[in-house]
Amino acid sequence: MDKIKITIAGPRGKMGQEAVKMVLETESFELVSVIDYKHGGKSLAAVLPFVHTDIPIYGNAQDAFENTRPAVLIDLTTPEAGFQHAKAALMAGVRPVVGTTGFTNDQLDELKELSKSKEIGCIIAPNFAIGAVLMMKFSSWAAKYFQDIEIIEMHHDQKLDAPSGTAVKTAEMINQVREEKRQGHPNEKETVPGARGADQKGMRIHSVRLPGLIAHQQVMFGDSGQILTIRHDSTNRASFMSGVKVSVETVMKLDQLVYGLENILE
Ligand code: NAP
Repeated sequence: MDKIKITIAGPRGKMGQEAVKMVLETESFELVSVIDYKHGGKSLAAVLPFVHTDIPIYGNAQDAFENTRPAVLIDLTTPEAGFQHAKAALMAGVRPVVGTTGFTNDQLDELKELSKSKEIGCIIAPNFAIGAVLMMKFSSWAAKYFQDIEIIEMHHDQKLDAPSGTAVKTAEMINQVREEKRQGHPNEKETVPGARGADQKGMRIHSVRLPGLIAHQQVMFGDSGQILTIRHDSTNRASFMSGVKVSVETVMKLDQLVYGLENILE
């Protein structure tokens, strides 16, 4: 069987480095190039000490796609760059697997349309950890029975977006089964703005940012006399790579955009 040719955008990043390791270690994958706006023209081995093969770095996505013809782009960058890379990939017939979080709904809609019109698969997953996907699924199940819900997401202090893509996705999944309800006391007032977190149809999301954390989320459900807590912790970034791997394999069989790992896991 032919190897799946892959380009990674953001190879120096915390997630990008894990993805480079995973792709290099996977027999059925081939890393043909990377996209790094600061090191175009160099070899990846000059930038990442654990890389011992000659993989070209391109300063922009179009050049990487034209010169190395990947089948899949793995993007782990920033919301702005990730959106541009995914668009360029779909235009070039390359299938994006995007872990970058923080896209707006308009950006997601634009990528969805482009993927559909070009009939090229695309996977965007705010969380590639299988345990996190189960946490979201269990939460949407529990939300059928508990209406009062607080989501507390906790991440390292270098994270750009808040709330996290996982928290937003969890709230979306919960809101598919939960009737809108304003939680807390009807006359509740914040004496310090933001104290009650972000409002998602009455449900609240709280974002904690601390050095030392990686990616953690707990969803708390309250009812008379009982509290249910569903929690997931990623204790290192390798936790995300099994989901990236499954996504690369799956995106080859898709002809439209799928948002969320839960929609491709059986
Ligand atoms: P990070 O360490 O800051 O890495 C981001 C990398 O992207 C940096 O090396 C950055 O380079 C690079 N970059 C920025 N603009 C670029 C451009 N135009 N072209 C190419 N590279 C560019 O962040 P991270 O922790 O790896 O996270 C990356 C993304 O993945 C974030 O959106 C994060 O929320 C998301 N994430 C997703 C999951 C998931 O499971 N889906 C899990 C964890 C994180 P410079 O630093 O030099 O600018």
